[in-house]
Amino acid sequence: MLKSRFWAALSSVLIIGILSGCSGLPFLTTPTPTPTLTNTPLPTNTPIPSATPTATPVPYFVSATVMSGEIQAPAILYHHFAKDTHAPTSTYTRYSDFKAELQKLYDAGYSLVSMSSWLDGTFSVPAGRKPLLFTLDDGIFADQLYIDPDGTPSVYSGLGILYQFSKDHPDFGFAASIYVNMGDKFYGDLHVDDWFYVSEGNAWKTKLANTMVWMIENNIEIYNHTYTHIDFSLTKPADILYQLKQNDDVERQFLAMVNRSDLDTKLGNIVALPFGTWPATKAGMDILLNYRNPEKKPLSAILEAYNADEPELTPSLFSPNYDRMKLPRITSTVSSIDWVAANNDKIPTANPCKLGPTSPDADKDPAALQTLITAAVQSQTCPEGLYHVNNFIFLAQNGTVKQYTPPQGDLPTQTSTP
Ligand SMILES: [Zn+2]
Repeated sequence: MLKSRFWAALSSVLIIGILSGCSGLPFLTTPTPTPTLTNTPLPTNTPIPSATPTATPVPYFVSATVMSGEIQAPAILYHHFAKDTHAPTSTYTRYSDFKAELQKLYDAGYSLVSMSSWLDGTFSVPAGRKPLLFTLDDGIFADQLYIDPDGTPSVYSGLGILYQFSKDHPDFGFAASIYVNMGDKFYGDLHVDDWFYVSEGNAWKTKLANTMVWMIENNIEIYNHTYTHIDFSLTKPADILYQLKQNDDVERQFLAMVNRSDLDTKLGNIVALPFGTWPATKAGMDILLNYRNPEKKPLSAILEAYNADEPELTPSLFSPNYDRMKLPRITSTVSSIDWVAANNDKIPTANPCKLGPTSPDADKDPAALQTLITAAVQSQTCPEGLYHVNNFIFLAQNGTVKQYTPPQGDLPTQTSTP
């Protein structure tokens, strides 16, 4: 550390010498001054950190990112994935189309964030990237995720293709959420040639349970889409409750089957509306909005679906339009993905911003970081917006800078009923 500071100090002296002392003449015509520690000029505007006074302060800057404008993202809704002989529809995405779409979204600057981080406000993307959410409904089908015998996700499944793409493009990230119906299907536990089949007996259950474990352990969040994919608008309140609870209970039974009940608490409480329809009565709405999962976790969010021909972006907690009980999604089609790629200017980029100069101690000090962001905004070095600095989050808005601390229990209650 001391050695590298010394060389940094030395090189800055040499650079200052070249810039200020040589006046454009070749360096060799002037005797090279021998830099010493005592005659190093201090930049006049650099405060010497009082806590760690040193004879050779090197200007230190903290790297931050800031997202400005409306903080929103596309939340894409996928269903099935299918081989290329299948026709592409709003519920079937062909493997080759999906690969092309991933490249398109990556090239448009997007990186994936998880649904849970979107809801609690802790989502972040690498510098230069824009947030994007992937959601899958009607889970769990083998074409959505199938784990090969060697333990890796099959490239004959959508999430397997995503996994491979994310390995090849680490800054794209690997995150998605899947909304499952545990009571209306078998799981294809056998992969033969390029398709999936259900074997005899209960082997498919173990395979599905292990697939769920892989999801939870690899940033694929599992949420509720009702037990048998009911239409809420046609369902009695008591049956709405049964459909939500039974689905949750059976998810936990599957985890218990492979001795992984320790993962129960990772199953959150979010509902994606089947068919995009709402309960028709107030009693039905109350059941839905007040639903608590088996761990007594209150409902975090409700996801809607919009047709691909009227795409709508999903607001964040930091957006005035945010209503976590009514979050829009964009149904995936080739044309809607093109729209998302073409409209990337509506999504904020995490722009890099250098805070300082300051002392290296500021890295871990939220009060110091808050002061630095305030100074950066006031001097117009960096704009107002949502800042990520190390693991801290700040919101610079309307002339003030506040640290954002994610909620520990229930989510912020910015809710309204539709
Ligand atoms: Zn559905």
